[in-house]
Amino acid sequence: MPIDYSHIADEAKLQIEAVADKAALEELRIKYLGRKGVVAEFMARIPTLPADERKAYGSGLNDLKNKIGVCLAAKEAQLAAIVSSAPDGYIDVTLPGKKPLLGRFHPLTQVESEICDIFRRLGFKIFDGPEVETEYHNFEALNIPLEHPSRDAFDTFYIKLAGEPVSRLAGSTGKLLLRSHTSPAQIRAMKAAKPPVAIIMPGRVYRPDSVDASHCFMFHQVEGIAVDAKIRFSDLKGILIAFAQEMFGQKTKLRFRPSFFPFTEPSAEVDISCFLCRGQGCSVCKKSGWIEVLGCGMMHPHVLKSGGYDPKKWRGFAFGMGVERIAMLKFGINDIRLFFENDLRFLEQF
Ligand SMILES: [Zn+2]
Repeated sequence: MPIDYSHIADEAKLQIEAVADKAALEELRIKYLGRKGVVAEFMARIPTLPADERKAYGSGLNDLKNKIGVCLAAKEAQLAAIVSSAPDGYIDVTLPGKKPLLGRFHPLTQVESEICDIFRRLGFKIFDGPEVETEYHNFEALNIPLEHPSRDAFDTFYIKLAGEPVSRLAGSTGKLLLRSHTSPAQIRAMKAAKPPVAIIMPGRVYRPDSVDASHCFMFHQVEGIAVDAKIRFSDLKGILIAFAQEMFGQKTKLRFRPSFFPFTEPSAEVDISCFLCRGQGCSVCKKSGWIEVLGCGMMHPHVLKSGGYDPKKWRGFAFGMGVERIAMLKFGINDIRLFFENDLRFLEQF
């Protein structure tokens, strides 16, 4: 008498009828008819049975195998019919969606745009200066004469073209270099517009620094100037306070410390109250409660003259800040190299 496997056949039939797609059906085929499946497991027991029972046991198993095979084939045909009867352009709304890969702006671009947007709202226009500059625009025009000791502070990449010791720009007397700050754009912006003006100049600058966690040979600055007949240091303070409160929060306080830059007189460095600890002292502000963010001052008469403005008629203020530094403070980044490694795991966080 054949052995009764009907409960297994019934169970398989119920499961097969419940599946909704080919992948699930294939899983059941493997479960029951696969090399290590239910039927194979029973088959493996045959050699352990007494010889006279083997025939009945085997034929029962064949029966089971056939029944499951029929169920699988029926279900397969049914699934195929669903797909083929779907109208053209049919979309299965139950399928999980594919997330489109969206591009995004680099964190430095985001911070630079944010800085520029704030100044634009304050009435500043944007001016774009060249990255390859003449020595004149980078130094002399900004009151940094050749033999001036302050030039030591501006290590510079000079450009050498084939056949020439150091290249010269047609019609200019200066050597060519990669600008070491955005300030030469001040001169070009003034030459391009009549006063009064309010201009910001964002861009890349280059210095031959060895690369470490806080230095890179290329980085970004945003420079700004405003020139008018009666402009004063208090106007500069007002603009910078408005900027810092937009950028770092309305409760931000500013501290102006006397400093020296060849192109401004008087000059100041500006600290903001630490936006993390609110002045209590933390690792970001090095326990001082203050963070240095920019340099500024009243434009030196020599600089106004270089831009073609009469220093007896016009006065101006200038300020400049490092985009990397502000981005690092804002996002809590402790290594400048992360900005330039193009690692998506980093970039996708912004
Ligand atoms: Zn702090």
